[in-house]
Amino acid sequence: MSDGAISITPLYSGSSGNAILVSSGETKILIDAGMSCKKLVEALTSVQTNPYDLTAILITHDHSDHISALDVFTRKFSIPIYATQQTWRGIHACEKKPHSPALDNEIVPDKYIEIGGMKVVAFSTPHDAQGSCGYRLETSRFTTAVATDIANMTPEVYDHLLGCDGILLEANYDKDMLWNGPYPYYLKQRIAGAGGHLCNDDCAAAAASLCKNGTKHFILGHLSQENNLPQVAERTVLRALENENLSRNTDFTLAVANRYVPTMPLILE
Ligand SMILES: [Zn+2]
Ligand SMILES: [Zn+2]
Repeated sequence: MSDGAISITPLYSGSSGNAILVSSGETKILIDAGMSCKKLVEALTSVQTNPYDLTAILITHDHSDHISALDVFTRKFSIPIYATQQTWRGIHACEKKPHSPALDNEIVPDKYIEIGGMKVVAFSTPHDAQGSCGYRLETSRFTTAVATDIANMTPEVYDHLLGCDGILLEANYDKDMLWNGPYPYYLKQRIAGAGGHLCNDDCAAAAASLCKNGTKHFILGHLSQENNLPQVAERTVLRALENENLSRNTDFTLAVANRYVPTMPLILE
């Protein structure tokens, strides 16, 4: 990969667990550490990444599908972790044994920091977890962002996605599948509510708007197991982009992150 190039590899994605590897040269940043330490090590190994070589772990929020591997993984591999103050409270509350406090770093939304030569900024996301955030990462040549667990596309989230070359964006549920599906009513309300998840339609509208503003690569992530299907999410987003006269593989690429196994990396170079 050339200097400043970025590769984005979703290791797994969904309410069963989330972890995304963002690399640029020797810098390897993991966003979220869901599932288990064993699964995370397996996934990293399968994409030729030694867990000891990670530069940092960025945590979006304290829901278990984003942190369940973190406790054991951190004690084993001692990688610096970044999270907002409120997320740290949640992480510490579910640790079985404490890890070295030297690994803890607090990230403040909208304040850029530098990690291994990459510029990193967290942005607040509307979700039912205190201090939840997404991340935007920049090199001298490319910009990417990860935004999942967002109830709706707020101006704050949109502004941080704007101008990215490639993004991983949540496409959690299809509205019809959710409301006609098996979930109890209170859970349907939670998912579609102000602290829930992004539906395919909202993801599609955002993708179309971002693409018109220069974003060329989209990975859909955090799909619901019960209320979505990869082909449904993909079709919804594809339609919205094509309605703007944007053509797949000419104006944009579109992929869906796998639930349990690493997805083909998106390489910006
Ligand atoms: Zn989640
Ligand atoms: Zn969540």
